[in-house]
Amino acid sequence: MNMDVNVCVVGAGYVGLTLAAVLADFGHNVICVEIDPEKLKVLYEGRPPFFEPGLDELVTKGIQDGKLSFTNCLAEALIQSQVVFIAVGTPPRDDGAADLSAVWEVSDQIGKLIDHYTVIVIKSTVPVGTADAVSARIAALLRRRERELRSKRALSEGEKVENLFCVVSCPEFLREGKALLDLVHPHRIVIGADDERAVSMLRSLFAPIDAPLVVTDRRSAEMIKYASNAFLATKISFINEIANLCEYLGADVKSVAKGMGLDERIGPKFLEAGVGFGGSCFPKDTQALLWMADQAGYDFAILRSVIEVNRRQRLRVIEKLESELGPLRGRRIALLGLAFKPGTDDIREAPSLTVARELLTRGAVVLGYDPKAGQRFKAQMPRVKVVSKLREAIGGADALVILTEWEEFTTIDLAEVRRLMRSPVIIDGRNVLDPELAMALGFRYTGFGRPVPRRGEA
Ligand code: NAD
Repeated sequence: MNMDVNVCVVGAGYVGLTLAAVLADFGHNVICVEIDPEKLKVLYEGRPPFFEPGLDELVTKGIQDGKLSFTNCLAEALIQSQVVFIAVGTPPRDDGAADLSAVWEVSDQIGKLIDHYTVIVIKSTVPVGTADAVSARIAALLRRRERELRSKRALSEGEKVENLFCVVSCPEFLREGKALLDLVHPHRIVIGADDERAVSMLRSLFAPIDAPLVVTDRRSAEMIKYASNAFLATKISFINEIANLCEYLGADVKSVAKGMGLDERIGPKFLEAGVGFGGSCFPKDTQALLWMADQAGYDFAILRSVIEVNRRQRLRVIEKLESELGPLRGRRIALLGLAFKPGTDDIREAPSLTVARELLTRGAVVLGYDPKAGQRFKAQMPRVKVVSKLREAIGGADALVILTEWEEFTTIDLAEVRRLMRSPVIIDGRNVLDPELAMALGFRYTGFGRPVPRRGEA
């Protein structure tokens, strides 16, 4: 039996393109639909339009093997496809809700176009109830086409339009920077579906992946995604609150987190104190879950605090700088790390954006350096002088702020940094440097939740 499945992935972003490349590598025939002409131009050249380790090679391989192709035409892609993944963006609206316009747009087109049994898989992170709503929309559109579908024999006598498709919720849990690893070795695959045909199609699609399968209803699947992200965000805000308290009480959050994390009920991950979480998922997904709770009339008190703690945590960078330098007007501040985390060029909701904005408001001269995200950051924050070499950012700086734990910063030569800077102030927003070494070299070092020896004590 031929197990190759014809797959369409709509949206060639971080999720869609990595998924498409992995499925092509599994031997499936994948066509990826993208509407952004600039991204499409790069894809037609055989390259990903963003940085993700290993993806360039996998996309090239997929194209060379004849297993991966790109188009801007959903109609063309749907002709052969047995499974369609919707992996479009669901960015936050001003009121915190997820903007589902791209999801509605794609599902409506699917409802207008399909004429054979198609499994429609929602990969985008969408509020609980969205898959049900997508299913209802597609069914309504198919009902309008019933006569056409019967004349094409897509539907047999007496068969309902609902037999022509199944909407599945299959949330994605990958991390940018480790997207390929996470797709091939996920902790679990969640499938929310009420149709055994669709479940078995996804089982065969993901057959090479050795991971527990959680088969559930669509609403629970959608909730698993939000609950997971909200829980991880809670861990981060919790350890940040502990870190802040450590500063008052003279404890070291690094040791505290280590001691906590060895308890296997707690675990060591997501216990790193610092400037807080950013990125395209945690901020928007926590806001969207809060919005869902508000809509349902439920006061989700913990989540509200998690978001507020994270907002305040970014501003602590400014407080720490002001406490070292006084007024920041005219001061040269070097921001090391603009991406929201290492391994990616994604700056969506990155702490660097908030910190840079606050510094500019205070009249500081802001320099920024990032191994991958410089160009993206520059496009969004033209008033920040984004440089292409670490030394250029540090030279003549009054303070250096680490915002992303890129290896280039964790292994930085502090003695050289000391020679290049105008004044020796380090704010370590990711707690990656050795405070004792920094202070021995004459730096005024401030981390998050780490004891600060009084001057002369180091
Ligand atoms: P993205 O913005 O990088 O990619 C979305 C892509 O969809 C864009 O390239 C956009 O041009 C394209 N698109 C929009 N409308 C389209 C249409 N009608 N037809 C074809 N293409 C269209 O977003 P992303 O980071 O890949 O996230 C996608 C979804 O996955 C979101 O819901 C996100 O919350 C979720 N998610 C993201 C991550 C992550 O780490 N980035 C992880 C898990 C889940």
